[in-house]
Amino acid sequence: MGQVSQNSQHRNIGISAHIDAGKTTLSERVLYYTGRIHRMGEVRGAGATMDHQELEREKGITISAAATWCVWRDHTINLIDTPGHVDFTVEVERSLRVLDGAILVLCAVAGVQPQTWTVDRQMRRHRLPRLAFVNKCDRPGADPARVVEGLRAKLGLHTALVQLPIGAGADFAGVIDLLELQAIRFGGAQGVQVAAEAVPGALLAAASAARARLVEAVAEVDDVMAAAWLAAESSGEPVPAAELRAAIRRATLACRFVPVLCGSAYHNIGVQPLLDAVIGWLPAPSERTVEGVDAAGLPVQVEGGASAPALALAFKQEEGIHGSLCWLRLYRGSLRPGDSLINLRTGRRLRVSRLLRIHAAQTVEIASAGPGDIVALPGADCASGDTLSAGPVIRLAGIEVPQPVMSVALSAKSREELALIGAALAKSCREDPSLRLSQDPESGQLLLHGMGELHLDVSCERVRRQLGLDIRMGAPQVAWREAITRRRDFQFTLSKQTGGPGMYARLVGWMEPTGESGDPVFESRISGGAVPESFVRAAEQGFLEALQTGPLKGAPVLGVRVVLTDGLTHPVDSSERAFRMAAMAIVREGLPLAGPAVLEPLLAASVEAPERYMGAVLGWLSKRRFAVEQAAVEGATGDDQGCDQGCVIRGLLPAAESFGLVNGLRSLTQGHGSFSLEFARYAQV
Ligand code: GDP
Repeated sequence: MGQVSQNSQHRNIGISAHIDAGKTTLSERVLYYTGRIHRMGEVRGAGATMDHQELEREKGITISAAATWCVWRDHTINLIDTPGHVDFTVEVERSLRVLDGAILVLCAVAGVQPQTWTVDRQMRRHRLPRLAFVNKCDRPGADPARVVEGLRAKLGLHTALVQLPIGAGADFAGVIDLLELQAIRFGGAQGVQVAAEAVPGALLAAASAARARLVEAVAEVDDVMAAAWLAAESSGEPVPAAELRAAIRRATLACRFVPVLCGSAYHNIGVQPLLDAVIGWLPAPSERTVEGVDAAGLPVQVEGGASAPALALAFKQEEGIHGSLCWLRLYRGSLRPGDSLINLRTGRRLRVSRLLRIHAAQTVEIASAGPGDIVALPGADCASGDTLSAGPVIRLAGIEVPQPVMSVALSAKSREELALIGAALAKSCREDPSLRLSQDPESGQLLLHGMGELHLDVSCERVRRQLGLDIRMGAPQVAWREAITRRRDFQFTLSKQTGGPGMYARLVGWMEPTGESGDPVFESRISGGAVPESFVRAAEQGFLEALQTGPLKGAPVLGVRVVLTDGLTHPVDSSERAFRMAAMAIVREGLPLAGPAVLEPLLAASVEAPERYMGAVLGWLSKRRFAVEQAAVEGATGDDQGCDQGCVIRGLLPAAESFGLVNGLRSLTQGHGSFSLEFARYAQV
């Protein structure tokens, strides 16, 4: 098999969804139909293949992106199960970064839900071509057409159904393929037998109308289809299925169209056609453009096939049942055991000892990997986002890691136990870059920083189980930041004469608010070499270091620009150290006089619940400084009562007020509410 065809027979896809939409069930069905597993486990039960971590089963969430692969119609599909809970957004980000396409799973009753918005934003950012799968068509109140409306109206996606359900609710019995105008039914044990037959007479008119809508929707974004549509209109002949299929592929790859399929993973309906759509409409690795940055910092396109020097992105470091593993996505070139790669961040050489494919809890050793492959390297020590290259320097864009917004103080029965816990958590931090460990400089306590209450909770719980030790967690604290509100000019001279060599540095300039909450910015406008470059760099270091500790809460200061306009040196007494100390003194003295303010993290919150709880949820939120941006009643919700009206509430919630949201919402809505929280920005308290 030639290299080109190998690459074209590859798909790297992810499945993303709002929690409970059926992502895990669907993943399992995929593994079953492709022969990767021989028995379907009860999802979340003992046999569930993708959710292999015990804790994940218990909490009912998929925490780490378990990767696996399968083969469908001679194509290798790498499948990454992405976590639904937004506290673990980094996991989703990492997966999306290395994927070429995705399936967005929606519930046929609930439609677009809070986390659907979040994953949609992420997929957009990565320009991921995608398919939508409307799952749970067997539920009372299921309505794929309404889900399509939701995708259009709420997410602004250009979509259309490529299938219609046969029967509704408990009578859901198969799908109509609108391209071929055929009914597809799933028979035999676990729906393994797929049979195409004529569309039932009663559904013919609806199917023809839906096909016309599909053709029209594709024609809106594809010129070739627009011409074919016009020709069909005048000739009275339908657009041929092959043309429509090719146009859907072009529009999907261009991210201009999202084909919507329907089914019921649980009842084994519609999964095989979805796999066909993955092969047919999502891109091979070679069909995606990949950009990097060369040694000179200029953007370059990553090109070249299997014979080019290897270039890979490390996207996940995992310490688990297989030991220490580094997950790589190969963008070009090939890898074999014995090859070596340079980690462009550290400059260190990494030897490939073995190449593994991982299927949940099992590993398979492979002899080589080619462009587009996703593999794990045992024993390799990399951080998420490192570029590994066997050739010239090309850095691939790293992975956006959000700053932790919350922390908890940890304690244990003894110092020895705490040291063990600290070591285990340090390992977790290597795996999960949105998790950090530090020591409180005053109390000496161990502090764990993360993205939310659940994130911290789950991270500690894992270590608690692993070590069998008791970890006591303090009350969660918000990660404060500080800012200044006024410009402050300085003309500062450090001059010390204490016997021996003196210290001299003079710096003139100002510090001012930038109006944003980004990291501090330093600018030197000193001209004519009044101060040597090395002293300016030392001053910069001093400014940035001192800005790590604000005057109000000792928290890092954001949104400040420091500008140097002039300075003076002494022929003997000036040094880098003197300039660094002067800069630090300027910040220490200047910040309290520049209108300091405390910043707190605000979270973009989206809550969804049956309408009957809307008043209670709004009441609960309004007691917590919630700024409502949208509160609306719409469509049906995903709760057991099927067709009840639902409400969606979106707005900004201070992180400090988000504690207890999980339980609060659960008890307020009797388990029928769901939410998503995501860091939005820092704002003055
Ligand atoms: P995830 O959170 O998205 O991974 O969702 P799961 O796959 O764990 O499914 C959540 C719940 O929905 C489980 O109780 C499943 O049995 C159920 N479920 C999954 N797919 C279907 C479906 O097609 N129809 C119905 N009625 N229930 C389903």
